[in-house]
Amino acid sequence: MTETLTMNRTRSRGPALNGATAVVLGYGRSGKAAAALLAREGARPRVTDTKDATALAVAPGSVPGGDAWLGRMDEAVLAGADLVIASPGVPPTNPVLAAALRTGLPVHSELELGWWHVDAPTVAITGTNGKTTTTELVGAMGRAAGRETAVVGNVGTPLSEIAGTSPDLCVVEISSFQLFLCREFAPEVGALLNLTPDHLDWHPDHEHYTESKARLFAHQRASDTAVLNADDPDVMRLASRIPSAIWTFSTRSESRPGTWTDAEHLFLSDDAGSRSVLALADWHLAGRHNVENLLAAAACAHRIGLPDAAIAAGARSFAAMPHRMEIVREANGVTWINDSKSTNPGSLAAALDPERPTLLIAGGVTKGVDFSPLRQTVAAGARVVFLIGEGAPAMDVAWRGAVRTVVAGDLETAVALAAAEAGPGERVLFSPGCSSFDQFKNYAHRGDRFREIVRERVTEGGTR
Ligand code: ADP
Repeated sequence: MTETLTMNRTRSRGPALNGATAVVLGYGRSGKAAAALLAREGARPRVTDTKDATALAVAPGSVPGGDAWLGRMDEAVLAGADLVIASPGVPPTNPVLAAALRTGLPVHSELELGWWHVDAPTVAITGTNGKTTTTELVGAMGRAAGRETAVVGNVGTPLSEIAGTSPDLCVVEISSFQLFLCREFAPEVGALLNLTPDHLDWHPDHEHYTESKARLFAHQRASDTAVLNADDPDVMRLASRIPSAIWTFSTRSESRPGTWTDAEHLFLSDDAGSRSVLALADWHLAGRHNVENLLAAAACAHRIGLPDAAIAAGARSFAAMPHRMEIVREANGVTWINDSKSTNPGSLAAALDPERPTLLIAGGVTKGVDFSPLRQTVAAGARVVFLIGEGAPAMDVAWRGAVRTVVAGDLETAVALAAAEAGPGERVLFSPGCSSFDQFKNYAHRGDRFREIVRERVTEGGTR
């Protein structure tokens, strides 16, 4: 009964889907949720994927639109289509997506389709790094306020999967890929955490990447809010063309209206004045970048109507997440850290600290990003770098001379070399700064593997 009532409250946004032919690009979790939602709305979904039914592990004949468009990408799939829904991660170079964009067919990200069908005040979070942490943190604040809170998007659950529901609060992690294919998405609160080079294999250049992120704010109203990082000049450059109210956050200076920190407190400043919302002693995540995430989350939570007490309670209860500066072992005076979620130079830079003697393990797929701007940061933050994966030779060239580099090839070898060399008071930091797909299934598989190797090899009193 409750479910029926909830389902009926759905606000209708977006185009009429009844009777429409909708091509769904990609049939992973998001594509499946999108196709199911389209079918429920009376549309005729037609799914295409580069994988065939066997690789997708779906029963033959069970895929909406039939199996004819599986195992290939042919623009003929667009014949008679009224709209296209793209799964996250389908690159603009995908021939079907490229053809749809070229011919002017309406193309929407799966997230936008989901948003049309979820009736809830929405906070959306993007940026090069910190999205998941900040999204989960706003979710924790929402729950601390006693609101029924959906945490969705890139974090795991596709927005389309909760279509038809109306939680009290929806917190969405959104990537540049999904933003690039949003034409209407207008969250009540949108946050842009930072902008550093990434995904240059997907976006033709940094400008295109920045423009995609800017779409988060393009359709907001004056009564909505944009939360921006005052300490990031690339983010602030977008401010002049944002139509909503701007809130900023900073770890360096006071932000009004917005959030900021001094050495001991998190402050919030709104029309009512400035006040301390949290003592930083009650915040348990290490690193200045996590204080930035906390500031962004507090600003988002406040603007979506959560009380100060819930902001503080959510922050206090929040524990570090796996694969993000996760301490996996302390043995023989050496600390081993798994930061496998670090997939670009920005997250690698955030992991380094000149105050902490470090042996760095990095490398993987560089995604076309140049690592030479990181030369000084790496030289200041690490005494030796063990490089792995496809990107190792390029990173070696980028950093050699500034810091000692060793091309180790694979993770097992890198861990063995680091174990042989690390001394008391040092840390071995696995912060790849690259994607994992050359040697691992994904960042989690890579981080799990690092944990396993370290636990196997590094023991109190020596290494095996
Ligand atoms: P995302 O979802 O954007 O990938 P995560 O919260 O999962 O962000 O963190 C990804 C990586 O970036 C981790 O290595 C983490 O330590 C680092 N990181 C987290 N927040 C920030 C930030 N605000 N600035 C720079 N690096 C960050």
